[in-house]
Amino acid sequence: MARYTDSVCKLCRRERQKLFLKGQKCYSEKCPIEIRNYPPGQHGLSRRSKVSEYGIQLREKQKIKRSYGVLETQFRNYFEKAIKQKGRTGANLVKLLERRLDNVVYRLGFASSRKQARQLIRHRHIMINNHLVDIPSYLLSSGDVIQIKDKSKKLDAIHNSLKRVKDNTYSWLSIDKASLTGNFIQIPEREDVPLNANEQLVVELYSK
Ligand code: SF4
Repeated sequence: MARYTDSVCKLCRRERQKLFLKGQKCYSEKCPIEIRNYPPGQHGLSRRSKVSEYGIQLREKQKIKRSYGVLETQFRNYFEKAIKQKGRTGANLVKLLERRLDNVVYRLGFASSRKQARQLIRHRHIMINNHLVDIPSYLLSSGDVIQIKDKSKKLDAIHNSLKRVKDNTYSWLSIDKASLTGNFIQIPEREDVPLNANEQLVVELYSK
């Protein structure tokens, strides 16, 4: 499967905003967005070309896709699924992405980035409702309980990452740090999701 292997910080700089792809560094003053908030490359600072409507829509799509760490085909599949659901397609798209297991493991604070969350899941450290799940794209449902497997509870990476997270930061999730257990209480409303992007532009892009 195709994977992006260059510096992920370049992706944030391309979008001119933090996408939180690198774990602890994203929360420090070493974050390149804090230092050089302009697109990468020789002409990054000087380029001022007029961006077309298509260009704006494309950038918004890239921003969302990269934030959640999904590839183009997978993203398009989520969009097709979102169309078939009731309600606003853009909001449905974000809600589907929020339900991904790697995203929830990251939001709960068990991992410092979605990439690290995918690694934890693939290495079989995560259980849902007492069953091992090793699929990062697994979609959670209301009431699902996410746990760190007993044998993995001493992993430093998990405890270091948890220090970043305040208790119950998100209204649709709850966490018990002592038992390393989280609860996906309900599917969040779009307005509650801290995603700085306009998903309506993705709907317009894909509707062409
Ligand atoms: Fe790099 Fe994280 Fe800063 Fe993005 S937010 S530029 S991934 S350190």
